[in-house]
Amino acid sequence: MRLLIVGNGGRASALAIKLSEDSRVTKMFFAPGNATTQKLGENISETDIVALKEFALKNKVDLTIVGPEATLVDGIVDEFKKVDLKVFGPSKKAASLEGSKAFSKKFMLDNNIKTAKAIVFDSYAEAKDHLQHHNYPVVIKASGLAGGKGVVIAENLEEAESTIHDFMIRRIYGDAGIKVVIEEFLHGFEASIIAFSNGEKLFPCIPVKDYKKAGNGDKGPNTGGMGSAAPSPEFSDENYKDFVQNIMNPTVEGLKKEALNFKGFIFFGLMVTKNGTYLLEYNMRLGDPETQVLLPLLENNLLDLIDDCLNGRELELKFKNKKAVCLVVCSGGYPKNFETGFEITGADKVKNSMLLYAGADYRGDTIVSSGGRVLNLVALGDTFEEARKKVYEDVVPVDFDYAFYRDDIAKF
Ligand code: ATP
Repeated sequence: MRLLIVGNGGRASALAIKLSEDSRVTKMFFAPGNATTQKLGENISETDIVALKEFALKNKVDLTIVGPEATLVDGIVDEFKKVDLKVFGPSKKAASLEGSKAFSKKFMLDNNIKTAKAIVFDSYAEAKDHLQHHNYPVVIKASGLAGGKGVVIAENLEEAESTIHDFMIRRIYGDAGIKVVIEEFLHGFEASIIAFSNGEKLFPCIPVKDYKKAGNGDKGPNTGGMGSAAPSPEFSDENYKDFVQNIMNPTVEGLKKEALNFKGFIFFGLMVTKNGTYLLEYNMRLGDPETQVLLPLLENNLLDLIDDCLNGRELELKFKNKKAVCLVVCSGGYPKNFETGFEITGADKVKNSMLLYAGADYRGDTIVSSGGRVLNLVALGDTFEEARKKVYEDVVPVDFDYAFYRDDIAKF
């Protein structure tokens, strides 16, 4: 079986490792891939969806799995389906549940999905007026894709006004800021649940804790994710029941009603408050770094699960009775400005963890940093303490200039 995996982060590496264990897989292509995927398959340079389609046809790809949201929102699934290429993911229309926060908020409200109160604005004057009467902090979201940077928690009116000015007038994220969602701030802790969709039903994985802020103790700016831990020990059975009843089941109904059914992954970004579990966002794909802890715990064969979904069959997901921890090592300065091109050393000294490259590529025979989140260390243990000890011991010899990571991942 020949596979094409679109993506280059730690998530693509985790998929590459999981799928490389399957004897049916004869060849894997990665677009564009990274240093880990280069060892396990072939990295290709095609990026736009038409070029990827032509590549898949020419190279007889049997199945494509798409990681990055922008490629899904561009409509890769529709493009591939036109020529009967098998692809696991949502249509362009369903991907709008991630690509447009205005669309997704309307979907949540129309379908009685438990979410923060919010209003969508496309008029700057009206948004500005609304902010005068809002409670603070307030959450302001650029509606379109902004690489995870389009959400600002404004502490006061001045900050809120300057945010909508940046989004709607200065257009710092281009067209993503034409519309903004102004939303009630929820206090609580976050959890991520990724589910498989077979086009009819959703099959949720265990909950994951993702560490979004750059600094220890959840301080500093939001990032793509500094680490993850699964199963999240914070997310109780009661939270889970609340999620199923008030978020997942109405989502299934809404997808049917609005003809958005798809076969792929759906990610629920949740906030658990003293009033229960709320949905912050949908992502229409696997999360990063959630995937890095879910796949090593998954007992089922991933290709079988995908095949079952594509054929509308029911799934019975099984996870190991272990804890998994992922530590993300970043370039100094990330998520703001950072330099790349630094040689990564010490990977051969990693003993008890799995090292996944993310923003890292080969330059000749050496591996150099090429992105903000450079590599991940993933380990399993009977306890979080055991898994955490492995990644924090193994990270010591791994080095590149200005590398940094959080010290408190999976410290419960
Ligand atoms: P991602 O990085 O997951 O792609 P995103 O940019 O698509 O994020 P959201 O997930 O909606 O946007 O928001 C990003 C983060 O902002 C959330 O993970 C959460 O920490 C915070 N946030 C969003 N909405 C709220 C809210 N209503 N109350 C409190 N915090 C919120």
